[in-house]
Amino acid sequence: MKREFAVIGLGRFGASVCRELSAEGMDVLAIDVLESKINEFRHIASHAVIADSTDEKAMKELGIRNIDHVIVAIGDDIQASILTTLILKEFGVKKVTVKAQSNHHEKVLLKIGADQVIHPERDMGRKIAHSIISNNFLDHLELSNDHSIIEIRASKKMIGRTLVDLDIRAVYGCNVVAIKSNATNKMNISPLATDKIGPDDILIIIGADTDISKFERNLVIDD
Ligand code: ATP
Repeated sequence: MKREFAVIGLGRFGASVCRELSAEGMDVLAIDVLESKINEFRHIASHAVIADSTDEKAMKELGIRNIDHVIVAIGDDIQASILTTLILKEFGVKKVTVKAQSNHHEKVLLKIGADQVIHPERDMGRKIAHSIISNNFLDHLELSNDHSIIEIRASKKMIGRTLVDLDIRAVYGCNVVAIKSNATNKMNISPLATDKIGPDDILIIIGADTDISKFERNLVIDD
């Protein structure tokens, strides 16, 4: 059975989520208060409706409670974003993902039952800053407020050395959970302490953000 999604707010972020879900063949209900946005999405999403998501009656009539996953992408109007989330959770929508504008906004959203809160601008800003500092930095995934997984390309300081030589766990408190070998193109998901790191190998590392920062400064950035 096709999964059903709704995207509320078709600004740049909501529009991009809506286009991508639709391109992947998902059933998407696009909602915005602006007629111009809805006209734009009429031929992209499965359904596109002009509605105010803070209007409980309108949301009920749209049958939003039966949708598997709703993405609230209202940006500037924090009050509307909070009220919409509240209505969706009161309706019993299983999964509600909300775009937050600030840490305070996130706190409120989590308190009222948002299942997932995202900060696309903050996260993208962080990724770009890291990749500007080092070409070896590839990706960052936030696991909690203080733990992350990062993906990096082996730096000059790592190439030809083993995990024992680098002593990453003892020195930096981080764990290398996988190494993708450039030579064999295979993913080694439980690297041994004696495995040697090759040129262009990709390492996946988990740890506390403070430990990861120390690791990045000392081992990932090439001098
Ligand atoms: P982005 O940065 O993703 O472009 P933004 O953070 O600037 O977006 P806004 O432009 O404030 O976000 O809002 C995104 C969309 O949400 C707009 O198209 C706006 O019309 C719509 N929107 C705002 N309030 C509501 C509401 N109560 N119900 C439905 N749509 C709404």
